[in-house]
Amino acid sequence: MVIKMKDIILVRFGDLVLKGKNKPTFINQVKKLLRAKLKECNVEFEYQHDRIFIHLKENNKEQVLKQLSYVSGVQSYSFVYKCENDLDKIADLAVEVIHKEIEMPTTFKVETKRADKKFPMSSLEISQTLAAKILPRVKELTVDVRNPKQVLNVEIRHDSAYLYVGKIPGLGGYPIGLGGKGLVMLSGGIDSPVAAYLMMKQGVEVELFHFESTPLTPLESVQKVIDIAKKLALFMPNNRIKLHLVPFTKMHTEILRFVDDSYIITIMRRMMYRLGEMFASERNLLTLINGESVGQVASQTLDSIKVVENVTNIPILRPVITYDKIDIIRIAEKIDTFDISIRAFNDCCSIYVPKNPVTHPKIDKAELEETKFDFKPLLAETIAGIRTVIIKPDTDFEIANYGFEVSDAITNYYGEKHGNWVQR
Ligand code: ATP
Ligand code: MG
Repeated sequence: MVIKMKDIILVRFGDLVLKGKNKPTFINQVKKLLRAKLKECNVEFEYQHDRIFIHLKENNKEQVLKQLSYVSGVQSYSFVYKCENDLDKIADLAVEVIHKEIEMPTTFKVETKRADKKFPMSSLEISQTLAAKILPRVKELTVDVRNPKQVLNVEIRHDSAYLYVGKIPGLGGYPIGLGGKGLVMLSGGIDSPVAAYLMMKQGVEVELFHFESTPLTPLESVQKVIDIAKKLALFMPNNRIKLHLVPFTKMHTEILRFVDDSYIITIMRRMMYRLGEMFASERNLLTLINGESVGQVASQTLDSIKVVENVTNIPILRPVITYDKIDIIRIAEKIDTFDISIRAFNDCCSIYVPKNPVTHPKIDKAELEETKFDFKPLLAETIAGIRTVIIKPDTDFEIANYGFEVSDAITNYYGEKHGNWVQR
């Protein structure tokens, strides 16, 4: 007998971590995200109280799995097969599923979960009965209840029985949108895109803030950030992310001109934090996020963090502060930003690296350096010059094709093409 099998995906969320009143909010947000992410996939959703089923209507498994891998809050998913709550029917389906999903020969066991407690047998009895029905029909299988290579899971629920083999891990974390909004300081480096991703995975929506120093730095350094933003947009609820380009050249030039060599990095970062805070409060973003990792470079000692953070009141989150570089790289590869980050173009932090940056800066000395030029009007001028572009995964903005200057290029590309950039 050939059973016609329809592809159904069972989606699980982090039941273990969900408590009380949070649970419905969490589940509703996951549903919303799934609907948004799978909008173009031609699927139907079926909601049961503690789970979500996705019914595929065409042969687009790969596309659906790809989209699912961007949904935070999903713990794991499985392809499931459904039939009546009848042991002979389940055994028939099991044989089909085993042939379809399991490479043979192998060891296996049946594991049963009985959500329908009215079913007249215990879970163990069901497993044993099914195994006895299946084994004579699939000769390459050997039972091993202790350490099987494959497990056929059977769930007996009120309406039907569900069968599946294996779980595909999801992104985990919390559904994005539940955790408020933050502003990520995004350089073209390896760390800050990973920091952005980790926050999104934990439920926080982000906007991106990039200090660009063209023409001191090449346009390609801005291109890197655009290309990184395209990758990060995939994790946002509606596949779009705001990238704020901050014109830093004038501030940068003044710092290089007036500040003591050893304090250049310290002062530059104090200005970045100030601008980040000003902008975040203007847009009601609750936190500043960056890719600092303690000890990585001279500017990331605890003393430096203290002296830099001293100029702000906004909470600052550093998701990769304790990560080893190798672990950051692994995540960067997973989210596909690594190859973009290692393109060799300078940004404002690498164009001029002082010979002896101070590793244990002092607040007094930093304040003294800042009296050497009139930075307050410059802060306001910089904020006023910020340009915001909305980046989507398929944005085809190759900046160098649209102009020699960032603002011209943005006007040419977005102004005419989509009208979705903002000159502030
Ligand atoms: P990354 O840390 O992203 O690999 P990086 O190593 O070039 O880049 P650092 O000099 O280590 O950057 O700076 C630490 C953090 O400061 C970055 O992770 C980022 O959050 C922020 N930052 C540095 N440069 C910029 C910039 N041009 N625009 C926005 N944020 C920046
Ligand atoms: Mg770094």
